[in-house]
Amino acid sequence: MYVILLGPPGTGKGTQAKLIAEKLGLAHVSTGDMFRENVAKGTDLGKQAKTYMDRGELVPDEVTIGMLGERVRQPDAQRGAVFDGFPRTLEQAKALDSMLAAQGMSANIALHVTASDDEIVRRLSGRWTCPKCGEIYQQDSRPTSQPGICDNCGGQLGQRDDDKPDVIRSRLEKQRPPAELIDYYRDQGKLAEVDGQQDIATVTPELLAAIGKSTSRAGATS
Ligand code: AMP
Repeated sequence: MYVILLGPPGTGKGTQAKLIAEKLGLAHVSTGDMFRENVAKGTDLGKQAKTYMDRGELVPDEVTIGMLGERVRQPDAQRGAVFDGFPRTLEQAKALDSMLAAQGMSANIALHVTASDDEIVRRLSGRWTCPKCGEIYQQDSRPTSQPGICDNCGGQLGQRDDDKPDVIRSRLEKQRPPAELIDYYRDQGKLAEVDGQQDIATVTPELLAAIGKSTSRAGATS
């Protein structure tokens, strides 16, 4: 099963993708995480991506699609995956379809997680992540038990460079999913909209229910 999570930054996509992947036993494929790992390791890909990430812009399609293509061929992604932050352009969506088709697979559902701009800015400016284990916190809705310390591994939390307020506004403007991308999945009958403004615990079962519906539909038509 291949599940796609669409939506602007700050709608809780990353948190939800992790939960869903764990629950359904799927690989969690986050292009944002992959770029950050490359930046941290100082690879050529990381250096290339960083200039765009720092400005809150999308990394060019050919770079992103190339990186994702390698990831999709890894053994853990053969049983299925949750795509978090990919695709973000129509070009990427079409490339993903071709990659999956080459393995005799296809995307099952695209979940569009929505939230208002004000809510997104509020959430992202209070987001803290653990550089050691990748756990994500939010100072109002998911605080740590000790300030600045990861509950999961004891690491020292940090704020992403692109979670600073001026970059957040720019990311929002430049990274809202384009209408043509949403329409691409709507036209295939694969789109489900979920209100990401609700709390995490409410959104997860809604996402899982939409995934469940899509698999029963696929079962009924096959
Ligand atoms: P994210 O963690 O998903 O918010 O991604 C962090 C940054 O990585 C984004 O602001 C982009 O610069 C870059 N990025 C992640 N995924 C993509 C993608 N699918 N296409 C282009 N750039 C991406």
